[in-house]
Amino acid sequence: LLELTKVSKAFDRHWVLREIDLQIAKGEVVVILGPSGCGKSTLLRCLNGLETAQAGSIRFCGQELTSGNVRWQHIRQQIGMVFQSYHLFPHLTVLDNIILGPVKAQRRSKREAEAQAEKLLERVGLLDKKHAYPRQLSGGQQQRIAIVRALCMNPEIILFDEVTAALDPEMVKEVLEVMLGLAEQGMTMVIVTHEMGFARAVADRIVFMDEGRICETGSPEAFFTKPKTERARRFLDKFL
Ligand code: ATP
Ligand code: MG
Repeated sequence: LLELTKVSKAFDRHWVLREIDLQIAKGEVVVILGPSGCGKSTLLRCLNGLETAQAGSIRFCGQELTSGNVRWQHIRQQIGMVFQSYHLFPHLTVLDNIILGPVKAQRRSKREAEAQAEKLLERVGLLDKKHAYPRQLSGGQQQRIAIVRALCMNPEIILFDEVTAALDPEMVKEVLEVMLGLAEQGMTMVIVTHEMGFARAVADRIVFMDEGRICETGSPEAFFTKPKTERARRFLDKFL
């Protein structure tokens, strides 16, 4: 579904991503781990065009994303992204936040988009909040709405960048459970997280980055029980 070949990215003259090779198959859940500043967010941002890589190739469904004439508006409908801060529109209700993209960008009918939105809201336990405004919701609820908003575009893949990092501990679980549910249903996901227990439970594959490079990839079982590199061992030690 997604294929990165020697993707490199620099800010000024500082290389933040160095020759990243990564392939993500349909239905796969890849968790990216690594110390702060190693380039995880930058990598995700390159995947949906928020940043541009200087070198290498990114192919999505066979289409080259690093060439000049990419229709990003179209691609972003297929590559969803959920951030640490929820970016909900404060002046729109939950339902209107969710159907904005489907109606405006995808030109779907309001009725059909609302029907899907309600189904998704029910799945995350928030159907009773559909007429509420974001400020009336907890952080965990807002983040679940942000996930529903991404899902309602029917993307091929969703990228998650530390979506629980800003949440109070008691709200983390309700968001992670939604993501575990998506994984079980076969959603293709790339997840950046610092929740190690969750990473181990949800991942088909762990990708460990350091200083802009992929140092190690493997099954969660292998990575967490016997990491191959010293760097990964040092990283994991901090969480025990
Ligand atoms: P964290 O775990 O703290 O979120 P990260 O792995 O997501 O870290 P990135 O945000 O990808 O790290 O940043 C990688 C490097 O790129 C850092 O050294 C950062 O300072 C630098 N960087 C990121 N964005 C920019 C930018 N817009 N301009 C200049 N440098 C940047
Ligand atoms: Mg980051």
